[in-house]
Amino acid sequence: SSLFHAVEMAPRDPILGLTEQYVADTNPKKVNLGVGVYYDDNGKLPLLECVQKAEEKMMAAHAARGYLPIDGIAAYDAAVKSLVFGADSEPVKSGRVATVQALGGTGGLRVGADFLRKLNPSAKVLISDPSWENHRALFTQAGFTVETYPYYDAAKKGINFDGMLTALNTAPAGTVIVLHACCHNPTGYDLTAAQWDQVVAAVKARKLVAFLDMAYQGFGQGIAEDGLAVQKFVASGEDFFVSTSFSKSLSLYGERVGALSVLCADKDEAARVLSQLKIVIRTNYSNPPTHGGQIAATILNTPELRALWERELAGMRTRIKEMRTALVEKLKAKGVQRDFSFITQQVGMFSYSGLTKDQMVRLRNEFGVYGIESGRICVAALNTKNIDYVTESIAKVVA
Ligand code: PLP
Repeated sequence: SSLFHAVEMAPRDPILGLTEQYVADTNPKKVNLGVGVYYDDNGKLPLLECVQKAEEKMMAAHAARGYLPIDGIAAYDAAVKSLVFGADSEPVKSGRVATVQALGGTGGLRVGADFLRKLNPSAKVLISDPSWENHRALFTQAGFTVETYPYYDAAKKGINFDGMLTALNTAPAGTVIVLHACCHNPTGYDLTAAQWDQVVAAVKARKLVAFLDMAYQGFGQGIAEDGLAVQKFVASGEDFFVSTSFSKSLSLYGERVGALSVLCADKDEAARVLSQLKIVIRTNYSNPPTHGGQIAATILNTPELRALWERELAGMRTRIKEMRTALVEKLKAKGVQRDFSFITQQVGMFSYSGLTKDQMVRLRNEFGVYGIESGRICVAALNTKNIDYVTESIAKVVA
């Protein structure tokens, strides 16, 4: 019989399945709030002007496409370090950050996971409950046992911070704690500065390993503001991991532009860590692709393009905030009694709307408004043209 006769069909990706259903839906008013991408007010995926300008520069240079170094474009890695830690920061100046270009934020997480697994094969990984659904699968595939720490408190529409802290304070030394640096996916609830202090203190006291996933830098409060958690971990003197992504912040989803940075004790240690990260990369895909990394490096290292990017990023961030406010106000205006103002306290692309699974199913089946059954909606897919229909539909299902 065939080599593959016993191969089972893997479950479908739940979010992609939802998108297929959305595409097949004939309702002309349908709205897809299940996605994890930013759309502009016309419901289109933006091609940022800073990206277009960088590509024009790149086209004019007619560069050949040699292999990149295993760790990627040096100017890209340097720009990532500056963005994540600060250009004049001590970790960057002292050379104790090992940074590699990676295939999106996912690639950064996976390179880090593979390295960590070699470093400490018996460590457990804790992810937030709930978390981005790929966290569990990714760390499991890398060989880890993955468990969760409490995060969302459905009753209080916020963070179960005591539960989170208790989990950290009882985790064995060496446990890898995956933390959303900003714009928590899926809930939209971020820790306060004071809560970060307590998390950092717990990680330090318990000798845990922090792995910050920063997929949305600039989408929450601002580029620097969203780096707060990174700054707090730097100040603690601990070593830690940060994966970054330009998928959202440069709207470069398909180019797979991300990175992994590992903060080490000193320059010598960073060189040794870098050499190990390179082995992980070399044996997986040898070296990263040129185009996306070159776009990001060109933008970040050209002052006018960098300034343009910051304006465009601020535009995306502001539009999301406006949609949050509009969502809450329009629900109120449509006579909805329940207080939805918590939506304006959330940040980033997503909102845990507090709607039940049944309500989400009704929204989809009766109104063609597609969100995740957990109640997660993508606020970045709302716009001035679809928000009235979406709020009318929500008003009907919560009535
Ligand atoms: N981490 C989180 C929390 C995310 O939400 C995402 C994307 O949705 C990623 C990582 C992956 O980003 P990328 O598309 O750059 O791999």
